[in-house]
Amino acid sequence: MATDVQVAARKVVSLNPATGETLRELACASEQEVHTAVARARGAQPSWLALDIRARIAVLNQFQHLLHEKKSDVARLITNEAGKPYVEALTTEVMVVLDAARFLIENAYRLLRDEPLPHGNLAMKMKAGRILREPYGVIGIVSPWNYPFSIPATESLAALVAGNAIVIKPSELTSLVVLELASLLHQAGVPKEIFQVVVGDGATGAALLNSEIDKLIFTGSVATGKRIAQASAARLLPVVLELGGKDPMVVLEDADIDVASSGAIWGAFVNAGQTCLSVERCYVQRKLYEPFLAACVRKVKQLRVGNGLNPETDIGPIIHERQLNLVAQQVEDAKASGARVLTGGTRLPELGPNFYAPTVLADVTHEMKVMREETFGPVLPIMLFDTEDEAIALANDSEYGLAASVWTRDRSRGEAIARRIDTGTVMVNDVVSCFGISEAPHGGFKSSGTGRTHGRFGLEEMVRIKYLDSEHLPRMKKVWWYGYGEAFTGQMEGFVNMQFARGVGKRLVGAIRAAGVFLGKGRL
Ligand code: NAD
Repeated sequence: MATDVQVAARKVVSLNPATGETLRELACASEQEVHTAVARARGAQPSWLALDIRARIAVLNQFQHLLHEKKSDVARLITNEAGKPYVEALTTEVMVVLDAARFLIENAYRLLRDEPLPHGNLAMKMKAGRILREPYGVIGIVSPWNYPFSIPATESLAALVAGNAIVIKPSELTSLVVLELASLLHQAGVPKEIFQVVVGDGATGAALLNSEIDKLIFTGSVATGKRIAQASAARLLPVVLELGGKDPMVVLEDADIDVASSGAIWGAFVNAGQTCLSVERCYVQRKLYEPFLAACVRKVKQLRVGNGLNPETDIGPIIHERQLNLVAQQVEDAKASGARVLTGGTRLPELGPNFYAPTVLADVTHEMKVMREETFGPVLPIMLFDTEDEAIALANDSEYGLAASVWTRDRSRGEAIARRIDTGTVMVNDVVSCFGISEAPHGGFKSSGTGRTHGRFGLEEMVRIKYLDSEHLPRMKKVWWYGYGEAFTGQMEGFVNMQFARGVGKRLVGAIRAAGVFLGKGRL
């Protein structure tokens, strides 16, 4: 029905979280535009796949070169739109992507080529088997704001090298960074139809989920992830879900206090704590508890909060006021339940709209929200434990299972504990940096998601596995085809015994009984 009421297009506004300044307003892609983008991607994908994989690797090489050339501009843009210190944008975003490209340039050909599959089953010896890795076609990516460059870029590079086309919906808060990623990929030689950005909000993401994509790679909150899992189940759309975390850090009594406390504060406050892998719960064995608290407080008091473009800044702003309020509420809830605020616990309005002081909490318990719900802010809650078993039980007492860390001077003790913690990654004597190891699979257990990105397993997510089976003796009927009867049954019993009976004698008798089957007599 025609109407003369003009429906205003929805917009997303890109803001600088440190200053509140509007960087740009962009119209949300409509549902129709999302569907059109996916259809264009599907139309173009066969020619992208038809390129030799070496040609796609060459494109990645060119992308890596361009990104390296433009590293400072890209890092500055990330700082402007997401707030993190420039040096973090450079190391945890740009450098991670340069290295992810390196991994794929070095390994994609080997990991994606056909893989011979020798058969152990005697009856199947006359066949050549191969595993083929074929691209899905069009992969949808929905990405978050906290690592607006490294998350979508690492996923995109893996999807592209495998021969997929991509339609990506960036976070409504960080569209500009993903538009820059698109520009670099296009300059490097990725056709425009093969990498398309649909800017928008949650509804745009939902439109992409409901479009004709072949797989969705989603990174974001558990709440949105669960909605996506439900919708995708209805149409059996394969999805990778990289969701939230509540990562525990376990500090044993033999840990180096100076190293572990520095690890704790960096792990808790990098990107103002807005890191899926950040230290969200810290457990310290009794002997170290008080000195560990003192070391953390002394170091945190030296951290400088401010605009990420200032090279002296350690901690930037929180992304927006809603998130700031959530962090402040968790700290208030903990205080009200008896936690001690050793430092921080306040907003810093004098610095700008979204700043919060790095906060260390002691004497927290698992009844407090700060130990159960994702905080996603600069808060380090520290709790005491006595025994290893207690520490492991506390670490595992969470609906999340993304990553964890164990701190000790005894590596084998650390690794033994690491094996008992239910998370997708456990680091011994380090935190967060696993995300920068391009070979290492990234992903969670429990509510932290399913599937993996990064490395070999991340690349495997971008392909469908096809088994190709081909006969060496095409003119021979198979022994198991029709021709059933008493003789055949006896031969088959012999054949089974020949392979699996205990004792050489029984196997030999089986072989003799089975022999007739190979003559193929009586096969239909
Ligand atoms: P979010 O769930 O609010 O949004 C993520 C993306 O989903 C955005 O692009 C958003 O527009 C889109 N979206 C929202 N509703 C949608 C819907 N119904 N259908 C489809 N798309 C929809 O998360 P966020 O606040 O952007 O990101 C922070 C969260 O992401 C944290 O929980 C963090 O732990 C998690 N995270 C996880 C990882 C990981 O690798 N496991 C990495 C980074 C961030």
